[in-house]
Amino acid sequence: MSTLDDLPIREDLRGQKPYGAPQLDVPVSLNVNENTFGIPEAVALSIIEKLAKATVSLNRYPDREFLDLRTQLASFLGHDLAAHQVWAANGSNEILQQLFSAFGGPGRVALSFGPTYSMYPNIARITMTEYLEKPRQADFSLDLNQVVSQIQEVQPDIVIFCSPNNPTGTALSLDVIEAAYSATKGIVIVDEAYAEFSNNPSALGLLPGRPRLVVSRTMSKAFAFAGARLGYLAADAAVVDAMRIVRLPYHLSALTQAAASAALEHSSLLLENVEKIKHQRDRIIAATAEWGLSPYRSDANFVLVGGFSDSQAVFDQLLRAGVLVRNVGIPNTLRITAGTEAETTKLLAELALLLD
Ligand SMILES: *Cc1c(COP(=O)(O)O)cnc(C)c1O
Repeated sequence: MSTLDDLPIREDLRGQKPYGAPQLDVPVSLNVNENTFGIPEAVALSIIEKLAKATVSLNRYPDREFLDLRTQLASFLGHDLAAHQVWAANGSNEILQQLFSAFGGPGRVALSFGPTYSMYPNIARITMTEYLEKPRQADFSLDLNQVVSQIQEVQPDIVIFCSPNNPTGTALSLDVIEAAYSATKGIVIVDEAYAEFSNNPSALGLLPGRPRLVVSRTMSKAFAFAGARLGYLAADAAVVDAMRIVRLPYHLSALTQAAASAALEHSSLLLENVEKIKHQRDRIIAATAEWGLSPYRSDANFVLVGGFSDSQAVFDQLLRAGVLVRNVGIPNTLRITAGTEAETTKLLAELALLLD
């Protein structure tokens, strides 16, 4: 057996590590921002029924254009969107990869504002796009004038915003997106993976008249559907045409299409727990603030908590107590997903013990 280093792999991939949030079997898993409430049985049965129907036709390639699913996604999003303005893939990570394949690539530059989603530099690397990250303000917000001048300085081909921002939870005002759009000739992507948890307006409302704006969404978070792998985008129909050029043929399996379609038929039931999750998020913010820690404001289903003198030690101790959270590498912080009431109670109880 040889090692990766012995292979004639691309030079720019040498020494790189695969994405690796720990997947551990623990009682309370609050590390990757899943909806921990799970799938209600009624929805599970509907999914199985649609999967059964799709299964008998698995000898055939799936519908390459998946127009039924795109129609459902467009109607779920509202904003007068039509199916030809919507596209889907295996998770929004694949959506982002397709966007970078079409609008990035060798000699091109993507710009984002950190700390932000750790997959952006990875997706840039895979697609051979240069990636630059400009710093956010101390409270992780973005200053409109600074964003505009950074765009003018970098002249990026892709500007990617994450709103609400992972891992900080920070909402982004539409002013900044509008100003960024006007300041660039490139594609502007707004990654709204956590939009359903946010009280702020979606960038979907900015789409009319802005053909270079793309809003990326996912069923992995609020929809409790991370395992099914379904991400999607809304944009001008021309952007969807670009996705068709770079996607692999039949990239969305018939089973994925069937499962997502069944889930969307129950969207209100699946999204029912969003308010409960927001309540648990606010509970984490209130409790940790009361204990003298420094939680950041969050518009998502997680909280970045600062003020730990040794966050890795707290991470390790929580894990020993059966609670898995995330150390994203921002000094003195941990990122904690808001779970069910029982999970949040367990988390806060263990945290209180450690801090005592
Ligand atoms: C979780 C997450 C995604 C979603 O990834 P999927 O591939 O859809 O599961 C996208 N963007 C951000 C910022 C995320 O946190």
